Amino acid sequence: MKYNPVTGDVIQALQQITGEKYVKTNPDVLAAYQSDESLAPDMWHLPEVVVAPGSTEEVARIMEVANQYKIPVTPRSAGTSVSCGAVPVCGGIVLLMERMNRILEINEDGMYLVAQAGARTSDIQNAAKARGLMYAGDPCSADSCLIGGNLATNAGGNKAVRYGTTRHQVYAIEVVLPNGKITHLGAPLKKCSTGYCLDQLIIGSEGTLGIITQVTLKLVPLCPYKLDVLAVFTDLAKATALVPKLVKAGLNPTSVEFMDNNFVRRASDYSELRLPHYEDGFYDIISIETFSEAELDAKMDILASICEKAGATDVVEADDRVWKVRRNCLESTRALSKVATSEDLVVPVPKIAECIQTLVAESKKYDFLLFCLAHAGDGNLHFQIMKRDMSDEEWKKQVAAFRDFAYPYVYKLGGRLSGEHGIGYKRMPYLERCADPVELELMKTIKRALDPNDILNPDKVIHIEE
Ligand SMILES: Cc1cc2nc3c(=O)[nH]c(=O)nc-3n(C[C@H](O)[C@H](O)[C@H](O)COP(=O)(O)OP(=O)(O)OC[C@H]3O[C@@H](n4cnc5c(N)ncnc54)[C@H](O)[C@@H]3O)c2cc1C
Repeated sequence: MKYNPVTGDVIQALQQITGEKYVKTNPDVLAAYQSDESLAPDMWHLPEVVVAPGSTEEVARIMEVANQYKIPVTPRSAGTSVSCGAVPVCGGIVLLMERMNRILEINEDGMYLVAQAGARTSDIQNAAKARGLMYAGDPCSADSCLIGGNLATNAGGNKAVRYGTTRHQVYAIEVVLPNGKITHLGAPLKKCSTGYCLDQLIIGSEGTLGIITQVTLKLVPLCPYKLDVLAVFTDLAKATALVPKLVKAGLNPTSVEFMDNNFVRRASDYSELRLPHYEDGFYDIISIETFSEAELDAKMDILASICEKAGATDVVEADDRVWKVRRNCLESTRALSKVATSEDLVVPVPKIAECIQTLVAESKKYDFLLFCLAHAGDGNLHFQIMKRDMSDEEWKKQVAAFRDFAYPYVYKLGGRLSGEHGIGYKRMPYLERCADPVELELMKTIKRALDPNDILNPDKVIHIEE
């Protein structure tokens, strides 16, 4: 056996670290931490104990105990992962980061913010805004997810097209390594060529290489001028073909979001709103932010002209209603099916149109529902695939067949399996199949070197053979 069960001795050792109050074993609590937001019940798994440390030192001591007894540990922030990243697939300990939620420093001159990893993302955004600055990480789940979860998954979101993903917002991290050692990686410096870039190795490693306990985040000036535009198309090909044109025009948009008509209708109903071309529209939402009114006006003129030439039926200012519909997309599908999977493919921007059209056409061969939305400006395509009236076996068979077509196709386009949600448990077997074998072996070598007992978030991203 690779791992040992959580015994009374282990519970006692954990209680000595955090105090009894923060070590939970009752079945209700365990059941609450068996899942995340992945809607994949067949992949959920109960933990044996849930522990909520209050400090970095406590995290370190928990890892020492876990190594001593060979118990798997699954770090968990808010559990909004849609890749089964926070699911304790090998049982053991769920390590809850939510108590470590303080914002420790906002340095206005240095333009950075220091927070514990359990701080809520929207609290960080708001704290920066209150000082006239911006934290540019902005996943749609910002109101619920925690910053450590964002770093662990290298979360993207609406603003990534201009500011990059979470990894681009980070100066430094404090990390507890699988062996319980605490280290500080990176620094609030504009440039640095001093050794390996280990902070960036940990960021995006989905809690498999270390537990992020503290973050130093970059802040940027808030742009005072902003306009959101909704470009409505009644033709899928035209709506998706707009995106590379916008990127090439040098408008430097903050967001370029795409919604297919399934999502337009479903999310509008859910939001109790009616926007133009509800029945047949495909939406591109484009945000432009500038430091002067003149620049905004000039960019708007260019944008309007590009949209018209691209065949937009309507080009209107997008108010909060449009963003509400966009934000509610994923939530709005939950009532359609309790079993679903979110694909998170990423392709080069010029390939978006081809990829969406090909995969939508492919989906017609199956009985499941498929809706598409995209952080189109960065080539990140979400396909929400929902189980309909079919047996569990049939659902699994059809999703597997779709993926067997979609994943190699996306690699052929120069894309990858995940743009922002991560590989987690859900896509692990597919990464093994699709990734370059040498790259895969390199990942496993790194994992084995840092975590010889394979106790930190095992069976996520890659599988380590016994
Ligand atoms: C409605 C909705 C909208 C979403 N929108 C977006 C979006 O726009 N962009 C996007 O990128 N994602 C999005 N997501 C997915 C999800 O919110 C992100 O992946 C988010 O970064 C996860 O954060 P979390 O705090 O919930 O982490 P969790 O789900 O708890 O954990 C995610 C992963 O990180 C690991 N982990 C957590 N905390 C730590 C830590 N401190 N140290 C090391 N590893 C850790 C976990 O083990 C797990 O593998 C969305 C999800 C939902 C439900």
